[in-house]
Amino acid sequence: MISLKGISLFIIVLLLMGWKSSCLLTTPEKETDPLMLSCQKFATLYQSIGDSTITPDSAATAFKELFRELRQQTYTFRPACLQEVDSGFIFPVRGYYPQSSIGGRGKGYRPDGFDFFDSRVRKSHPAHDLFIRDRNNDAIDDVRCEHVDVLAFTGGFVLGTRENWTPDSQWRGGNCIWVYNPCLESLFYYAHNHTIDVKPGQWIKPGEILGKMGRTGFNAYPPRSTTHLHFMQLKITEEGLPVPVDPYRQLLEARVVDWE
Ligand SMILES: [Zn+2]
Repeated sequence: MISLKGISLFIIVLLLMGWKSSCLLTTPEKETDPLMLSCQKFATLYQSIGDSTITPDSAATAFKELFRELRQQTYTFRPACLQEVDSGFIFPVRGYYPQSSIGGRGKGYRPDGFDFFDSRVRKSHPAHDLFIRDRNNDAIDDVRCEHVDVLAFTGGFVLGTRENWTPDSQWRGGNCIWVYNPCLESLFYYAHNHTIDVKPGQWIKPGEILGKMGRTGFNAYPPRSTTHLHFMQLKITEEGLPVPVDPYRQLLEARVVDWE
């Protein structure tokens, strides 16, 4: 015969088990944050495109799905984002004036043939290279004798970063940063950095320090290359696909942030 004490003990054990399992279900972990999940999806997709382990069609489908979610996740941030955009853009290279820093007076921008989903396509350059004074190509400013800050052109959400580039790596962008701006519905790409100071999942303000300029990347590393920041804007279409847009005029009009 089961005693009353035994039944009570059984009930207590059941309650404790229930409490434990409900804790396991409700304990928030980083991976359950929808925005962090989007960062993870982007990292996986970007890696697969770079490694050519996904077909361009499949990559485009995954990208559209990711940005459909990201638009919803960042919708509430749009009013604050619009205010920031209204107050203007920041030139991404600290202490440099656009006219002297933008390569080829804007003629370096060549969007034809660009395909975000096919890493084998290499002829286009839908970006501006922003140069610094660095005659000996050591990534250190010749006048200031220090690394140059990469500043956020506009605010947004750090969707992805890639670090720990080494000279034997095939990564073209080297240490790079992807920022999504929800009201411009654009991705901003900052490549060839020396170091990166932001993390995926972080919200940043215009002019915030993203990292230091460098010479990382397959083509940026060799001595023939002049130290520069590769800066690209990709507008996300209604359909959710990335299309290059030329930010030259905005770069020319951007506010210059002086050395500290
Ligand atoms: Zn470039």
